[in-house]
Amino acid sequence: MRICSIASGSSGNCVYVGSEQTHVLIDAGCSKKKIVEGLNGIGLTLEDVNAILITHEHSDHIGGLKVLMKHCAAPLYATAGTLRAAKLDAELGAAAPRDVMDSGERLFRHGAETTGSAECLAKPERDGIMQHAGRRLTAEQSGTIDRQGRRPTASGRRLTRITADTPFRIGDLTVTPFAISHDAAEPVCFRVTRGEETFVLATDMGTFDEYTASHLERADVLMLEANHDIRMLQAGPYPYMLKQRILSDRGHLSNDASSALLNRVLHDKLQTIMLGHLSECNNLPELAYETVRLGIEMEENPYHGNDFRLMVADRRLPSPVVEITK
Ligand SMILES: [Zn+2]
Ligand SMILES: [Zn+2]
Repeated sequence: MRICSIASGSSGNCVYVGSEQTHVLIDAGCSKKKIVEGLNGIGLTLEDVNAILITHEHSDHIGGLKVLMKHCAAPLYATAGTLRAAKLDAELGAAAPRDVMDSGERLFRHGAETTGSAECLAKPERDGIMQHAGRRLTAEQSGTIDRQGRRPTASGRRLTRITADTPFRIGDLTVTPFAISHDAAEPVCFRVTRGEETFVLATDMGTFDEYTASHLERADVLMLEANHDIRMLQAGPYPYMLKQRILSDRGHLSNDASSALLNRVLHDKLQTIMLGHLSECNNLPELAYETVRLGIEMEENPYHGNDFRLMVADRRLPSPVVEITK
């Protein structure tokens, strides 16, 4: 497998992951032009894309999706909650999924409602978590479906509703969505495997737990959120309520939290760590890099900061192609 971050950050996210035969985009939060340029840079075009996976409905993940879909026939994969919140169900003509109240949902997906304020609504959105300000999310959070269904829509597009922890195949790739703690309807991140090779995308997480860590284990390549430096965020220009929400369990991982999660899942065969979803206002690439590198160095583990290839995904430019080598 090879991986390329086409854009990463609170102003737009899109990641390519693929093999010789199968080409997948995760999220479409930047412009179609940028996505096409990113694909062209690795010798591909939109026609090569076999699937578009969506993590959640925030604009930094779907901002370019509607235009992209006009030019790319690839089927779309997203949770029922994401499709509904992004209004893609209606737009693509799919039947609404049945809501299933699941009292066994993981703890961090429970009981939360947004605490956003008018200020948040008035000043959208650098970190992608403000669109829901002032609106209760509980019903959407609980919106899951009991089976995975692929169905043609009125527009002829194939739309697949996915659920956390239910793996599905795209060509020679197996994709396992896993739930994340984030201020969205039904957000997921993805673990992508092909034979012995594993890539995990893990961004937009306010917090993590054993469940999260279990999905990050044994990855060859890990793209991990390092959204903000806590001190920069605290001293920065964001309104108080937005700061609180970014720092909350349904916001984003700080550099320190990213380092703590990484230290739980380090292993000998991890090849590359790509830090991503950096805040433009509240982080610096060098700071994210050094915080995580030092975090590996200082932690009581058998590793040093330079034992792994550590990179920071650029906000607007495609990353170097990362190839999993076995
Ligand atoms: Zn985001
Ligand atoms: Zn988000």
